[in-house]
Amino acid sequence: MMSSQGGKTPYQGDERCFGEFRCPECNRTWMSANSWANTAQKCQNCMIDVYPYKQSALQRSGLENTISKEVRHPQHLCEKCRRLGRPCTDRY
Ligand SMILES: [Zn+2]
Ligand SMILES: [Zn+2]
Repeated sequence: MMSSQGGKTPYQGDERCFGEFRCPECNRTWMSANSWANTAQKCQNCMIDVYPYKQSALQRSGLENTISKEVRHPQHLCEKCRRLGRPCTDRY
């Protein structure tokens, strides 16, 4: 059993959460409702892995809509999608 990789992201749970990212190279900021513990997303300008500096739990009400609206979730930028080999936006 893998031990926790420990603290790459503020959130350490198993659920999808809402992440806020800021690229240290170009200062681009973005948000994603498909953010996960210890999981980076790539900056689309610099193609470097960026970990969220802030994460918060998804609320059942508001942010659930954000997920379904994030139809163009950038899978090639999302470490979770690449790990899974399928979109992390898929419902189980
Ligand atoms: Zn960047
Ligand atoms: Zn993803």
